[in-house]
Amino acid sequence: MKIAFCSSEVVPFAKTGGMADVCGSLPLALEKLGQDIIIVLPGYSSIDRKKHGFTKIREDISQAIVGKNIHVYLIEHSYFDRLGLYGDKSGDYSDNLERFNFYCRRTLELFKELKLSIDIIHCHDWQSALIPVYLKQVFNKDPFFSKTRTILSLHNLAYQGVFSAEQYKLLPFDSKIYLSTFEFYNKTNVLKSGIVTSDVVATVSPQYAREIQTKEFGSGLEGVLLARGESIIGILNGLDYNYWDPRRDRYIASQYSPDDPSYKANNKAVLQAKMNLPQKPAVPLFGFVSRLSHQKGLDLLNKAIAQIMKFDIQVAFLGVGEDKYHQMLNLWAKQYPGQIAIQLAFDEEFSHQVYAGSDVFLMPSVYEPCGLSQMISLRYGTIPLVYRVGGLADTVIPHDQGGNGFVFTDYTVDAFVEAVREAKNVYRDKSAFNQIVQEAFKADFSWESSARQYVGLYHQCQKN
Ligand code: ADP
Repeated sequence: MKIAFCSSEVVPFAKTGGMADVCGSLPLALEKLGQDIIIVLPGYSSIDRKKHGFTKIREDISQAIVGKNIHVYLIEHSYFDRLGLYGDKSGDYSDNLERFNFYCRRTLELFKELKLSIDIIHCHDWQSALIPVYLKQVFNKDPFFSKTRTILSLHNLAYQGVFSAEQYKLLPFDSKIYLSTFEFYNKTNVLKSGIVTSDVVATVSPQYAREIQTKEFGSGLEGVLLARGESIIGILNGLDYNYWDPRRDRYIASQYSPDDPSYKANNKAVLQAKMNLPQKPAVPLFGFVSRLSHQKGLDLLNKAIAQIMKFDIQVAFLGVGEDKYHQMLNLWAKQYPGQIAIQLAFDEEFSHQVYAGSDVFLMPSVYEPCGLSQMISLRYGTIPLVYRVGGLADTVIPHDQGGNGFVFTDYTVDAFVEAVREAKNVYRDKSAFNQIVQEAFKADFSWESSARQYVGLYHQCQKN
């Protein structure tokens, strides 16, 4: 089988969130299982072509190799010659529909030009969701694609690629299919078109697959998703266990393994020093690494902050995102010196130090399609504190049930504060806390088993 990954973000080339990690590591895991993979992404100017060994194979196409022999293609165009992937400080780029429409169409043309006969095109979120529509509407009579099947993975339903009804005219599709395929409250919804036309819809955790078919989590698309019902498959994301490995992590002060009892003390001290927090081993240090958006629980934190700051705890924040949250965190750092420290940046290296140096990882997401951060924390023996939702529910088991984390089940300030109180209390009881740490280390979210499930899904999809 030849499988093409079409994604607007792929590690190590371009990343704003977890989708990039998935599209960087799943292809490698699939190749290890003997699959033939290629990757196509937009050629953003931020991609370091020299470092990654890209060479031009056409005027508008660059190519490099990752893994053993995965060909990565960049679609080069002035559309992608910007600082951001999707926007800048003032918001999304106004021509995002044209940009990603171009990417989708050019990708399919490229397959033809290079005579790459693809069995499965695996698309990711709205930016590549027009690919199945092109196959059904524009290339439907083209024998070159007669065997090609499509999978659309939903990484986050909150981002749907919604544009005005007017802008539909920028796309080459028949106006007759507008209502059934694109229309969403009088607007053009690109993600909807992919959900309606792809052969299979996948999501990144089994729990999220169920949740998105409800009003609470469907972001308005629950009806469209319900209609696909059985064909929505949830496969938990994996983590690149070679990259995220406290035994070999070159970004952290002291490498450690699960059987080393003094495993994190030095990393914690170094993190505290770096963040100007008092170096007190006995005070639990909570870490937070995230995009700063409503999804990640910042509004809940805002309502709870005065209460949890009464506890003898420290919190280290690493994140970038919406301006209002930058202001909020700046304010907290001033209000609670010695307890709250912030780093408002996207800093890969430092993120490792936060995962390794914290005792507890704060992740009170309102919704979470899968979530990688809690898996990374578990890998580093850092105990996640999460709301029971989406992929968090699939990966974090309450410690009082013999599990690996702190879990609250009502999305309320009281329940969250209670969970923080419990975490800091349990932290005082060294043997109880170590027991949870050992459970954390036992978790296995490496790609192997998820990649096998994807291979099964590709085979099933090919038969349809
Ligand atoms: P999402 O995809 O919703 O942003 P995930 O938990 O699935 O959330 O993945 C987030 C990824 O991005 C993790 O690898 C996390 O470590 C990383 N990340 C988020 N914010 C930052 C930051 N400010 N600096 C470095 N890495 C970050």
